[in-house]
Amino acid sequence: MTSLHSRHIKPLILAGLDGKNWHLQDYIARGGYSALRRILEEGITPEQVIAELKASSLRGRGGAGFPTGLKWSFMPRQFPGQKYLVCNSDEGEPGTFKDRDIIRYNPHALIEGMAIGAYAMGITVGYNYIHGEIWADYDRFEEALEEARAANCLGDKIMGSEFTFELHAFHGYGAYICGEETALLESLEGKKGQPRFKPPFPASFGLYGKPTTINNTETFAAVPFVINMGGEAYAKLGKPNNGGTKIFSMSGDVALPGNYEVPMGTPFADLLALAGGMRDGKKIKAVIPGGSSMPVLTGEVMMATDMDYDSIAKAGSMLGSGAVIVMDETRCMVKSLLRLAYFYYEESCGQCTPCREGTGWLYRMIHRIEHGQGRADDIDMLNSIADNIQGRTICALGDAAAMPVRAMIKNFREEFEYHIEHKHCLVPAYI
Ligand code: SF4
Repeated sequence: MTSLHSRHIKPLILAGLDGKNWHLQDYIARGGYSALRRILEEGITPEQVIAELKASSLRGRGGAGFPTGLKWSFMPRQFPGQKYLVCNSDEGEPGTFKDRDIIRYNPHALIEGMAIGAYAMGITVGYNYIHGEIWADYDRFEEALEEARAANCLGDKIMGSEFTFELHAFHGYGAYICGEETALLESLEGKKGQPRFKPPFPASFGLYGKPTTINNTETFAAVPFVINMGGEAYAKLGKPNNGGTKIFSMSGDVALPGNYEVPMGTPFADLLALAGGMRDGKKIKAVIPGGSSMPVLTGEVMMATDMDYDSIAKAGSMLGSGAVIVMDETRCMVKSLLRLAYFYYEESCGQCTPCREGTGWLYRMIHRIEHGQGRADDIDMLNSIADNIQGRTICALGDAAAMPVRAMIKNFREEFEYHIEHKHCLVPAYI
């Protein structure tokens, strides 16, 4: 591991933002729209754009971490009908609050990234699906779209070229499940937001049944930087197979919660230091490194881990959306898991039995353990229910409900046993 001071920690997407300089002229003053302009004026081909993305090793920032260049290459460019580009700004994962800051403070980076994506994939229409609980950010994005249209950065014959791209904002209604890409497409079509069976995948059967590419807000916002720096230079900011920078939403028991953009592979200890360290100097107990659906790790393991897809996977969890929830020694793991279990129980769309019924069982069992009515075999039963949900559902919400349960029990089993045996919490603050 390297120390904080020996690494480049200059942000890209969040650099120089003061909360007011989100307008088009501010973005242009920061070098904005130069990547799109260069592509169009120098005749850089779509294939070259995709090659840069592949060289950058930019991986999807929404949670799955799929290589962006590879995803873009799946789009059948020569498909004769309409094709769509969709941005997933339905940021609902507990602990994640980075995409709304991009929309709020640097919306043109997202618009330029989407325009470059549309050019690379031969797409003329795009949508940004914005989470239902952030109306002000939706309004901000609409304003940014108007600015971009007025400056011919969107619309017909962009910047005097033959390239046309229309981009629209769409406001969701706040259902967590619409962050799942096929549920998002259903919702965008005006239907109930429920995940589709896959295959077919959106690349061949997406919005209105047409080929569609969906990427996360942060992924698109990183694209102009990839083009401006060149794919290889961008990749070198991070680690092999984990290119560039990543915005981490630091929350929980840290002194300075907020969004921090650092190179992929930054040691967690350095990220924690950026966030001011542990609040009130308390001891770190546990960390959920990638959003509430990811397995929890002990503080000890996290302090020896780097923040990139491969390192977190090696440590036993996933980087996910980069929402880092830090818990100190006063946190009760049973109570924490109860809160998470309730969320997934509430947000299950109800299509598949293991998820619809299993999330309710998990919630009710953890509830009884927390409230002093746990039974001796409840821990094994929780693991068994989680096993019967994970991998047996239409979408990943089932896994998202099961993984935290198994990880909490694996890492903090003694707290669950203590709750059951003594009918109250092991952690002094809760006794
Ligand atoms: Fe709906 Fe849950 Fe099935 Fe996903 S796993 S489709 S949320 S019931």
